[in-house]
Parts: sequence; structure tokens; C-alpha cells
Amino acid sequence: MSTTCRPRCIKLKDGDYLRVGNCIYRFLTGGNVEAEYHEEIYRLTIIDGLTEIHNKRYLMEFLDRELARSSRHNRPLSLILIDIDRFKTINDQYGHLGGDFTLRELATRVKGNVRKEELLARYGGEEFAAVLPETTQEGALIVADRILKVVNQTPFQFEEKLFSVTVSAGVVTTQGEPDITSAELIRRADEKLYQAKENGRNRYCN
Ligand code: GH3
Ligand code: MG
Ligand code: MG
Repeated sequence: MSTTCRPRCIKLKDGDYLRVGNCIYRFLTGGNVEAEYHEEIYRLTIIDGLTEIHNKRYLMEFLDRELARSSRHNRPLSLILIDIDRFKTINDQYGHLGGDFTLRELATRVKGNVRKEELLARYGGEEFAAVLPETTQEGALIVADRILKVVNQTPFQFEEKLFSVTVSAGVVTTQGEPDITSAELIRRADEKLYQAKENGRNRYCN
């Protein structure tokens, strides 16, 4: 005996559950407080609390996704790894609050130079990463140059004290290499960043 599933139209109400195969979804309307709560929880898992830019978790998801797209469509993608120069000295001279201020101010300045479809994230303590989909090496070097300038051209000011900050950066590009992993791209960028430090800091290498 065969059963036929006839399509039915049921209007969902706020809070209704909906089962599709193994998955259970909950329908929450726009103004629902619980929806806002879930959105806030999600935001907290992907945003760095200090600098208010995306965190490493979001960075890795974004990079994996964009790398897959770059490989599949044979499109360029660049990664810039940025590390503050002598950050320990800033902490020593202006205290950890001065250090925290520096991280926030730097993130704000650099973010202003990254497009909406690109990503700036805090990779670790005083390290940041910019992922630039659809950007060739030539384009990435222009961005790296802008980042260095936006950091060191105007002094930072913390509690009346002015001080200058510089960063070093490693720049790498894939032209859509098949099977390249996020870990491998980061390893290459880290190598270039190390070279920039070795060559005297306040510069980028590619
Ligand atoms: P280099 O030019 O070689 O990068 O030197 P550096 O001093 O920047 O590097 P190092 O790795 O020795 O020091 C990094 C410092 O960053 C050490 C750590 O205490 C500090 N740091 C990491 N996260 C934070 C943070 O969230 N706030 C503050 N204030 N300091 C942090
Ligand atoms: Mg570092
Ligand atoms: Mg450093």
C-alpha cells in the first residue's frame, strides 16, 4: 500500500518547533527576546572581547571557506599576518591597560582599511590576520603598506602620553592552488612575518 504526502500549508507561530529529518528547528520571530539572546550568545563566540573584531575561531572558519572557494574557482586569495613590534615594551612602559588600549586602537585603525568582504581578526595576543579574498599578491602588498602606514604615521595616545607603534607583517597569496590548507597558508605567512622581524621590523615580507 502506498501513502501519498499531500502538501499542507501551516502558518508557524513564534516558538513553534519544526522537524525536518533528524533536525529540529525552532521558529522565533524577529522581535523575540529569546532570538536576540541566541544572537548575542553567537556574537560572543565569534568576537574578541577586547578589540571587538572577530576572533581566531571565526577567522579559521572564514579562511577554510574562502580557501575552498579559491581552489574550486581558481581564484586568488591573500593572507596578511600582522604582529605588533616590541609590544612587551609597550606593556612595560604604559602598563597592561596601555597595552590593551594599543590593541584596541590598532584594531580600529586597521579595520578601517579592510573592505566589508574581507576579514580582520585577532589571531592571538598581539597578532592579527587579514584575509583578502579575490586579492592578488600585488593588491595584498598595497593593503600591507597601508596597514603599516595607518599604524605608524600617527602616534598613539594613552592617558596624555604619546608613543609610536609599528607592526611587522607576512604576506602570502594563493592563486587557487588545489588542496592548500588554512594551516599551510598560515605557516607560510608566519615564515614571512619572521623574516620581516629578522630584517628589522616595521616592514612586511612576501
Ligand atoms: P616582537 O617585536 O618580536 O614581536 O616582540 P614583542 O615584545 O611584541 O613579542 P613578545 O611575544 O615577546 O611579547 C608579546 C607580549 O604581548 C607578551 C604578552 O604579555 C603581551 N600580550 C598578549 N596578549 C595581551 C593582551 O591581551 N593585553 C596586553 N596588554 N598584553 C598582551
Ligand atoms: Mg607575537
Ligand atoms: Mg610582537
